[in-house]
Amino acid sequence: MAPAPAARPSIGVHVGPGLTDENELDDGGPLARAAEMDADGVQVFLADPQGWTAPKPRPDADALREGDVAVVVHAPYVLNVATTNNRIRIPSRKLLATHAEAAAAVGALGLVVHGGHVLAKDDPAAGVDNWRKTFARQAETGGFAVPLWIENTAGGGNAMARDLDAIARLWEAVGEFGAGFVLDTCHAWAAGWDLATAVDDVRAITGRIDLVHLNNSRDPAGSSRDRHAPLAGGEIPTELLVEVARAAGGPVVLETPGDAAAHAEEVAALRAALSA
Ligand SMILES: [Zn+2]
Repeated sequence: MAPAPAARPSIGVHVGPGLTDENELDDGGPLARAAEMDADGVQVFLADPQGWTAPKPRPDADALREGDVAVVVHAPYVLNVATTNNRIRIPSRKLLATHAEAAAAVGALGLVVHGGHVLAKDDPAAGVDNWRKTFARQAETGGFAVPLWIENTAGGGNAMARDLDAIARLWEAVGEFGAGFVLDTCHAWAAGWDLATAVDDVRAITGRIDLVHLNNSRDPAGSSRDRHAPLAGGEIPTELLVEVARAAGGPVVLETPGDAAAHAEEVAALRAALSA
């Protein structure tokens, strides 16, 4: 038997929603952007990332769901299901479920959501328990419509998913519900992780990495700052980023700054580095 060819690593790019104000496709939308960049996947927001609006049905939902471009949805940044503030936590839970349904409508592999945080005066254990309740309550009605993938964050005290020991406490609560994990290299660097061992360190806790957000950083290690940089244009050695993607062995999404031409170059360079 001939040896199976090595699977082509799926390299996606975060793109704009690609819709006009009238909710019509703008310049071909995300699928046109993927073609332009020769990307295997796209990550999109389905509503304002800084707001509380629910996603609208998309005119390209069928094309996204039925096409061969992998789709990942990122939940709005404002969501915080960990917080002890009811006026944030309760709408966060509702909107998270709504986004998961909208993500299913476009055939998303998963819904990325930040780990969130509690207030400085709070015990982080309360945030962990709020995460557990988020999954437990949703499980009563059949669970989320797509897998929920929790992303590590760059900074902030009392964050649920900044440090590895915090992630370990979170996973004791959410692991049983099938929570997935997104490793963001810029955020891990900002939090002072050793990227040479990050994939193994995370897997030892979660048993899984569902997606890598492969981003360089404009700031030094341990800065707690979340300023993404191009793969070959930041403080993290590019070879180290390639090794993270190789070690994780699964889909990658670039959230790097730059236009479509710059992203096309990054996709091609990363694809070449991973197949070398
Ligand atoms: Zn990210």
